[in-house]
Amino acid sequence: MPAAPSAFLTPALALSMAFAAALVLGLLLKFWLASRQIRHVARHRNAVPAAFAGHISLAAHQKAARYTLAKAQLGLIEMALGAAVLLGWTLLGGLNALNHGLLEWLGGGMVQQLALLACFVLIGSLIELPLTLYQTFVIEQRFGFNQMTWRLWLADALKSTLVGVVIGLPLAATVLWLMGAAGPWWWLWAWGLWMGFNLLLMVIYPMWIAPLFNQFQPLNDEALKTRVTALMERCGFKAQGLFVMDGSRRSAHANAYFTGFGAAKRVVFYDTLLRQLTPGEVEAVLAHELGHFHHRHIAKRMVMLFALSLVGFALLGWLATQAWFYTGLGVQPSLALLVPSASAAPNDALALLLFLLVVPVFTVFLGPLLAQFSRRDEFQADAYAMRQANGADLASALLKLYKDNASTLTPDPVYVRFYYSHPPASERLARMPLVPPQTAA
Ligand SMILES: [Zn+2]
Repeated sequence: MPAAPSAFLTPALALSMAFAAALVLGLLLKFWLASRQIRHVARHRNAVPAAFAGHISLAAHQKAARYTLAKAQLGLIEMALGAAVLLGWTLLGGLNALNHGLLEWLGGGMVQQLALLACFVLIGSLIELPLTLYQTFVIEQRFGFNQMTWRLWLADALKSTLVGVVIGLPLAATVLWLMGAAGPWWWLWAWGLWMGFNLLLMVIYPMWIAPLFNQFQPLNDEALKTRVTALMERCGFKAQGLFVMDGSRRSAHANAYFTGFGAAKRVVFYDTLLRQLTPGEVEAVLAHELGHFHHRHIAKRMVMLFALSLVGFALLGWLATQAWFYTGLGVQPSLALLVPSASAAPNDALALLLFLLVVPVFTVFLGPLLAQFSRRDEFQADAYAMRQANGADLASALLKLYKDNASTLTPDPVYVRFYYSHPPASERLARMPLVPPQTAA
């Protein structure tokens, strides 16, 4: 049959159908992956894998399996809820109703647009709230990781809202202003603003935002400091300071990272990490992080992010002018789209929200590619750490972190390919010198 253009398949209908199809396909894929992971972990929970025998006890292995399963089951509920909320906002008309309600109340203008963004964020957070609380106060609590009190949780929530308002509102207002006033190339200006904002955030986050939530003390363990400083000199890494963060206020999970860039870099150790690892192991973990720096993984990721966001802004610049982009996603745009006039309400906030809602539905299929890049970077950082520090220390540090974080040693291989930003323990440790087995605690 010849492919005759159908009078019924309008661009709006085509978008609705593509969106619904991508949403359903993505959901099926994610459910399939999660069920594979759940079955795989459950099937292997009764025996420690041979490679880890003597290093990890059966009790620790089974705790990791229970923890992984609990999180995966909650993940299934999150997925279903997320898809329902997305449909609710778009094709079922939620965003349209919110927009019209606010237009009647506030009229069309900057205040209405900012109110639309704020209400959207607020409603979204409230819908997610029960699951977030369940994750922290039930799952993390049950496995002994949660250190957070209700009081601290509430204080955190208030502070993050405040930071979001102080930083997010002016940023959103500037983007909306550019969309309305900077002509057809507004998206290029907005992209520049977004890049500048990200770079600025790298400077102000460690200095002003992170200290609102945690205390940072200079590292005062002299022996460790000497060791770590010698390592950084060997690696040609200049940092402004070594800090210990009170991560134990919120969680027993351990970590180390560095923030900032140029000469303003600082190395941050969680207190939980220093408690769990020997000085040699801390050095090996830091050497791994320095491996990311040495191979310029962070800079490369930034460049990739900048390029992708340029494509994103260009796409948004075009979509925002297409009526079918709105109607195809369940929203009736104002007439300003067809008849530009000073009195018509702008559609810019709507375009932003629809774009942010819809793009992940189509980009979910890129996940495995990005995860693949990330896992390759982790292997490179491991190899670097073994050259600059002791490989056996790195291996024992990894084992301890896997055990203390109750990370599963037996993930489903397909699930790993799709989601894991870090290679599974078995693959990482296979490249490291084996530590002699001890009696597992
Ligand atoms: Zn890493």
